[in-house]
Amino acid sequence: MTSKEAALDNRLALLKVRFIERTTTQLAAMLEQIADWQEGDFVYDDIKSLYQLLHRLAGSSGTFGFNQLGQQARHLELTIKPVLSDSAHTMALAARVIDADFLARLHQLPNLLQDNTPQLAAIAQTPTSVPPHKTRLLVIGDTLSELAAALAPYGFNIQYCTQPITECELCWHQADIIIGQARELTAIAAWNDTQARRHQQQSAPILCIGVDDSFAARYALAAQGANGLFTQPVDIPRLAERIEQLSREQRELQTSKVLLLDDDRELAEHYRLVLTAAGKEVRVMAHPEGLLAALAEFRPDIVLLDVHMPPYSGVTLARMIRLEPEWLSLPIIYLSSEQDRDQQISALAQGADEFITKPISDQQLVRTVRTLCYRARQVAKLVSCDGLTGLLNHSNIKQALLHEHVRVQRYGHSTTLAMLDLDYFKQVNDRHGHAAGDQVIKALANLLQQRLRNSDHLGRYGGEEFVAILPDCDIKQAFQMFNAICHHFSALTFNGKDGEFHVTVSIGLAELNGFVLAEQALHATDEALYQRKHQGRNGVNCYSPTGHKE
Ligand code: GH3
Ligand code: MG
Ligand code: MG
Repeated sequence: MTSKEAALDNRLALLKVRFIERTTTQLAAMLEQIADWQEGDFVYDDIKSLYQLLHRLAGSSGTFGFNQLGQQARHLELTIKPVLSDSAHTMALAARVIDADFLARLHQLPNLLQDNTPQLAAIAQTPTSVPPHKTRLLVIGDTLSELAAALAPYGFNIQYCTQPITECELCWHQADIIIGQARELTAIAAWNDTQARRHQQQSAPILCIGVDDSFAARYALAAQGANGLFTQPVDIPRLAERIEQLSREQRELQTSKVLLLDDDRELAEHYRLVLTAAGKEVRVMAHPEGLLAALAEFRPDIVLLDVHMPPYSGVTLARMIRLEPEWLSLPIIYLSSEQDRDQQISALAQGADEFITKPISDQQLVRTVRTLCYRARQVAKLVSCDGLTGLLNHSNIKQALLHEHVRVQRYGHSTTLAMLDLDYFKQVNDRHGHAAGDQVIKALANLLQQRLRNSDHLGRYGGEEFVAILPDCDIKQAFQMFNAICHHFSALTFNGKDGEFHVTVSIGLAELNGFVLAEQALHATDEALYQRKHQGRNGVNCYSPTGHKE
């Protein structure tokens, strides 16, 4: 167990102790308050309080390892539930359902709290820190050295392993994606799974390199869990694109933001720890009053909303969120111990998207939240990103530019704007076909994504034009970096109708700081780019107000 895992276990254990203390006190107070029930002396408000306590325990006990307590609380909760909805005959019905058996079970609850053998949840442990942007590839097999070399210009972090994979132990957890020979898939996949279990992480995606692309061969690879097959000779740009796509999915899974609203403090804190350990950014709120402000500021990918938060109802809060057009498509997931399917469905009809029923195991919570966040990101991306490259589309990169310009004016940090345009791209299409042209566009997008930082903005501005915004980066640093990008891009080999070919790119830079309007900075980069085109393309020019220098 790593020290990080031990710290998490300690914090979860501490929450469990708090849960035991609070529940013990609450149960004792409740039992004292309803001591008169033995004589058939029921008070409606007490029945309601008891119901609420049982409802909470039914939903939360399982999470802290008290399954029996949760089940008993659920049983008792359901027993007295009709009493609450039948106010006209409350006491008559109460007298019937609250019998000796009910009271005996109720008095047993505190014992169930002590009988538990501590059993801490095993959590899908993924790194808590945001992963580096560079995708880490593990290339396995002594015949793949050329392939590893051809992938290098894309900026991937490549480990090349020629030993038998069983001796590769040290490198597994440093790999985001594995590339190996299709004929060795069985051994690689088994090793991958063993390592994943050992590190309590998800197994890494595997891309196979093979010669056989028959139906039978593909089916066998799919059955063993491969994520892609590339036949020899490998189309490197396509392989790089698939790598970028997989690593984008992984990044998105890890960086999603969750807003959690639950009035049960220990439970909410437990969920927060578990989700944070799985790499999510989690904001917890115990009171709904600040909900709209939190949405605007935190901008979560999904909201997890407790349904019962007296005096508030989660269902009404979901409707309230939907009053704002901005949050119409924000996924809202009810987190509730409501098990009645009819009630769940009518709650869903009020504006939420999913129902997670408490108690939920830590693994289930992580898996569900992961899937929902991923889906939410996909939908958001469809709206804001360019279909061919997955980069921001024209209007969204302009939006990002306005936003960064405001920040630059406020904080004064250097921010560089870049405009990129492929050289002689019309000829590429004419000679090698439009499909090959599309591959070139995607390859540049992939290379940029590998080489820029997570905090940079990258958009497809037009057909073969791109815009990048680099906050906290002055024009000198940007110049060096984009020069390297030009160099690496020109080294990429593409395949078209006419055989192999290479393409270059021209780049214009301007520092955002010098301009009153963001639009003027854009013109400046365009001017620098135009100069570059005239000075021989394949390189970078910086804008300067008194002329242009390279
Ligand atoms: P220069 O070096 O001066 O930039 O020359 P160029 O040929 O790249 O410039 P021009 O603007 O004349 O041509 C751009 C070409 O890009 C024309 C268009 O067919 C092609 N193009 C634009 N969008 C796409 C696309 O999505 N896919 C492909 N394959 N081609 C595209
Ligand atoms: Mg061009
Ligand atoms: Mg152009």
